[in-house]
Order: sequence, then structure tokens, then C-alpha cells
Amino acid sequence: MTAFQSRRRWAGKTALVTGAGGGIGRATALRLAEEGAAVAIVDVNRRAAEAVRKEVETAGGTAAVFVADVSVDADCAGTVAACEAAFGRIDVLVNNAALLEPGGAVDGLSEADWDRVIGVSLKGVFLMSRHVIPRLRAAGGGAIVNVASVHAFATMPKTAAYAAAKGGVVALTRQMALDFAADRIRVVAVAPGAVDTDMLRGGGSASDEDLVRAGFPMDGRSIGRVGEPSEIAEVILFAASEQASFVTGSTIAADGGLLARLVQA
Ligand code: NDP
Repeated sequence: MTAFQSRRRWAGKTALVTGAGGGIGRATALRLAEEGAAVAIVDVNRRAAEAVRKEVETAGGTAAVFVADVSVDADCAGTVAACEAAFGRIDVLVNNAALLEPGGAVDGLSEADWDRVIGVSLKGVFLMSRHVIPRLRAAGGGAIVNVASVHAFATMPKTAAYAAAKGGVVALTRQMALDFAADRIRVVAVAPGAVDTDMLRGGGSASDEDLVRAGFPMDGRSIGRVGEPSEIAEVILFAASEQASFVTGSTIAADGGLLARLVQA
């Protein structure tokens, strides 16, 4: 018996995870597969997505790669149809793909940069959801987990498009939860704080010291650490699971206490 066959809470279910080639998406795909789900690894980055598929399969799980740009409607429609054809059903959608960069204040952002960040990080949630919802409805229900950010609630300088996108994701989560409650579709957002991924490291340019500065207290004093992708994946899995059957429309922060703090000591 492989490691993945010993725990099968998600056996027979299919989960579609966008941005699954990257840090948090990869960790989520691996945990879902570990629990028995067939996982659709959706990413614009084929190489990263294939690497995650191999990891899942090596551990005894089931996965397929779908290369797509979530800001393009035709890509989303094609991906959802191909996922359904491959696995026969869709039970969970994790809208995780997003872009932090290009950053800037509103007077320093080009229209194209604004459109790109909003297109992937907010419109991508709309596009993927609109294609998955009819499948969830037809199946009698399901769950959508939107990965937002603490930037929806408190931000830092020169992050205008990303902060606006993540605020939009939280609002859209509430909206979809109301609109599809009668279809037994739960919609929940998870808002991570600083998490050690390529996005936080700016594609590799941030040092460990930078990461410590980005870290926030879990004990009221600075323990100076950022989160691990696996710590966010656990919250995403909970939000998507039957254990969260009375949770919908809300946003769960997983931020090591970042939003609880008024100033950095
Ligand atoms: P990563 O950058 O590590 O991974 C994101 C993945 O999404 C990459 O594989 C990326 O490909 C892919 N991607 C980018 N654009 C698209 C697109 N248009 N369509 C499909 N896939 C795309 O990000 P994280 O794992 O850090 O972030 C995951 C989520 O968590 C995001 O929603 C992010 O906003 C959120 N989050 C992250 C935090 C953090 O500190 N890391 C904090 C708060 C929220 P490529 O590598 O080619 O760009």
C-alpha cells in the first residue's frame, strides 16, 4: 500500500486546482490526492504543472495536467470540459492562481498591468467558477474555495491592483455563496498571510532575511516566520470538505496573526 492509499477521505471525488504548479496550489493538489481525490492540475506553466503531476503519481495519486490561462474564457471553458471528460465529475474548484506583480500605486500602474493582475487574480475566479458551477449544480452540490489574501483587508504601499483583486475575491465569495446556496454549493475564501512560495520570494529575489521581515507573530511577539504552503493547504482542504458543511460566504484567514496586529514591534 502506498502512502496515498492509506487515507482516502476524498476517494471518488475530483478537485480542480488552478495555479497548482506553484507553492500553495501544489501543496493543495498533493494533499487532495493524498486523501484520494483525482486532481486536475491547472496552470499556465506546463513544466511546473507536469512536475506536480509526477509528484502526485509517484506517491500513488491520480492527476492530470490542463494548461490554461485562467484570465482567458476559452481556456477556462476548455479546461473544465476536458477535466469532466477525463474524470467524469467535478466536486471541488480551488481558485488559487493569481498574480502579485506588476505592482504599483494607481499613478504608477499602466492600464495593461492593472488589467493583467485583475484579469488573473479576480476575473479568473469569475471565469473558472462560471464554467464549474453548472457541473456542481447538476451533481447536486459541491464546494468552491477561493484563495484570497490578507491584502483584501490590510495592505502595503504600491500593491493597488492585487489588493483590489483580492478585495474583489472576498466580495465575490459572499456573492456566489448567496447565489448558489440553493444549489448546495458552498463558496468559501481562504486568506493567507505571508507564505514561503515563489510569489513571496519575487521569483527568487527575496532573501531569507526578507522573508523573516515579512513574517508575523503567532504569540504576540515577533517569532518572525512566514507560513508554509502546507499550512494553507490544510485550511483549503477543510473549507472544501464536508467538515465545513455550515461554512459558506465567509473568509478564513490563515496568516499567523498578521491581521490581529496593529503595528510591527
Ligand atoms: P505562486 O506564484 O507560487 O504560484 C502560482 C501559480 O499560478 C504558478 O505556477 C503560476 O505560473 C500560475 N499562474 C500564474 N498566472 C496564471 C494564469 N493566468 N493562469 C493559470 N495559472 C497561472 O503563488 P502562491 O502559491 O504563493 O500563491 C497562490 C495563491 O495564494 C494566490 O492566489 C496568491 O495570491 C495567494 N496568496 C499567496 C501569499 C504568499 O505569501 N505566497 C499570501 C497571500 C495570498 P508561473 O510560475 O508561470 O507564474
